Amino acid sequence: MDAKTPAPQARAREAGNFDAVVVGAGFAGLYMLHRLRGLGLSARVYEAGGGVGGTWYWNRYPGARCDVESMQYSFSFSEELDQEWTWSEKYSPQPEILSYANHIVDRFDLRRDIVFDTRVTAATWDEDAKRWHVETDRGDKVSAKFCIMAVGCLSAPNRPKFPGIEDFKGPVYHTGEWPHQGVDFTGLRVGVIGTGSSAIQSIPIIAERASQLTVFQRTATWSVPAWNEQLTPDYVKAVKADYPALRAKARARPTGFYFPFNIKPALEASEDERERCYEEAWQRGGLPFLGAFGDLLFEKPANDTIADFARSKIRSIVKDPATAELLCPDNVFGCKRLCVDTGYYATYNLPHVKLVDVSKAPIERITADGIVVGGVEYRLDAIVSATGFAAMTGSFDKIAISGRNGLTLAEKWRAGPRTYLGLASAGFPNFFMITGPGSPSVLASMIQAIEQHVDWMADLIAHMRDISARAVEPTLADEDAWVDHVNEVSKVSLRSTCSSWYVGANIPGRPIVFMPYIGGFPVYVQKCNEVMSNGYDGFILEDVAATNAAPRVRLTERWRVPLDIEVISPAAVAARRVPVV
Ligand code: FAD
Ligand code: NAP
Repeated sequence: MDAKTPAPQARAREAGNFDAVVVGAGFAGLYMLHRLRGLGLSARVYEAGGGVGGTWYWNRYPGARCDVESMQYSFSFSEELDQEWTWSEKYSPQPEILSYANHIVDRFDLRRDIVFDTRVTAATWDEDAKRWHVETDRGDKVSAKFCIMAVGCLSAPNRPKFPGIEDFKGPVYHTGEWPHQGVDFTGLRVGVIGTGSSAIQSIPIIAERASQLTVFQRTATWSVPAWNEQLTPDYVKAVKADYPALRAKARARPTGFYFPFNIKPALEASEDERERCYEEAWQRGGLPFLGAFGDLLFEKPANDTIADFARSKIRSIVKDPATAELLCPDNVFGCKRLCVDTGYYATYNLPHVKLVDVSKAPIERITADGIVVGGVEYRLDAIVSATGFAAMTGSFDKIAISGRNGLTLAEKWRAGPRTYLGLASAGFPNFFMITGPGSPSVLASMIQAIEQHVDWMADLIAHMRDISARAVEPTLADEDAWVDHVNEVSKVSLRSTCSSWYVGANIPGRPIVFMPYIGGFPVYVQKCNEVMSNGYDGFILEDVAATNAAPRVRLTERWRVPLDIEVISPAAVAARRVPVV
């Protein structure tokens, strides 16, 4: 918890037995709780923060907003919810998304099963009782048949150990743990470390108040304009008139959200056509920019064409040529997560904003008065650490998770995470992950990815009850095959070629493994559906007569995602033609 967030209220420690313990009350934990309730099961949710919303509870930095359009970055499980909630902007700001999370909690009466300000520290499988014993930092000791990790892919802040950071006289804020009361930068000399999505969103707004803003850039980032705007009542009405159709189209897309994309390869287009398509896509803005052509993340020469176009845009916006060159990335376009900005590049035209390159000479140390790079001290009153997260596995690493025969998850994942479908891991019975490594997770619109996982788990849990199964876990062979497949598919994408957080390369010492599944959301969903239809193929169900009987419990129909677009068939994946953003 950030030093500036309010202290948790004192609370009596808890003991008890539940059907399920859920760790985390972001969108994943909330929907899981809703589905468990629907099954008539008892559940306890533990949340380290003082409220719900996860990402949107913690990331309160100036400018924080979604980069998937709000009308799609929202739950789709309830048509009534879709109709009653109205987003104000194309990309809604953090406070509005947090209000939405709170609305969900109130509307579905979820709060009474959530314990806040409480971090789960340990989860231990009891083979005799076939239950998980869960402990927290507040002394709770509870047990549950199922332990469900809804801990988030981007929830463990990365704080590089800059020498001397404890000597700095002013405050150091991490974007992922922003003070709830906000920060007034008026008249201050502010340093921002990092130029990823959080930095890109906050820099233009911090620049409006700071007397001096110094940005420390290690890797120049690709960013596309958001062209954010207020949503008009007519637009909202039109979407709501046929919301289920939009949701269905979104599910059929590799990204789990809908936008127009052009499947034609860039290398088959003339230079004029490419220029026209890129300009049109730039004017639409946002992540769909990568949908300008079908081969951009597969063929380096194709990628070079979009990279050249984007560099020309940066040079046309930034007036100082030396700064413009520093801001022009030289890596694959969209290799790291593409950023979506409002006025980012133009901010460097302001006289009080300075860019410092730390790619060759890294940050040497932090002093009482500022940051030293290349022997030069940049004097600062406040530092913003926009240095990202120990992505995908960081929040798992903080919990002592111990499975069958005392095997710990940390040990098992030492060389990189190993899961079956990103949902479960062999040796850890009745243990599920929502958007775990090995699932599309961060490469899809995450609320869609969350809903699909939760629905799948809820159906499995219902099936287990139906056949009186005491425990479920994947077979090692199926898990190994899935891990191999995830690795294999990642190689067809240029995304596997750079030092991004997708591969864990942003944190020194982490194993370099491409963690999310890049084969496309519908392909993945189809695999999950097949596993389910075939009696949970690849899973061992314990203490039942027929281990893999076809489920009598009704499948969640809405995840029968059609593979109706030529380019997202498995054959297209193999042929390197899946437009993924
Ligand atoms: P989270 O929201 O991360 O929630 C996990 C919760 O688990 C946290 O509240 C955490 O405190 C809690 N927790 C973790 N460990 C423990 C523990 N041991 N004990 C108790 N509690 C624990 N995705 C998109 O698809 N579109 C976007 O536009 C988008 N924008 C983003 C913007 C930002 C600034 C960030 C950081 C991420 C963004 N994401 C976006 C990804 C975002 O994380 C997901 O969309 C989504 O909110 C994740 O929900 P979640 O519930 O899985 O995880
Ligand atoms: P990030 O993308 O990992 O960016 C972290 C930045 O800090 C990078 O520029 C990194 O440089 C830099 N950095 C890290 N350690 C450093 C060091 N020791 N010295 C100097 N620089 C260092 O993190 P993020 O910006 O918080 O975003 C994480 C993810 O959250 C995003 O990719 C996205 O998925 C999500 N997000 C989305 C939005 C949105 O638009 N909706 C907003 C924020 C976050 P290197 O690149 O060289 O490592």
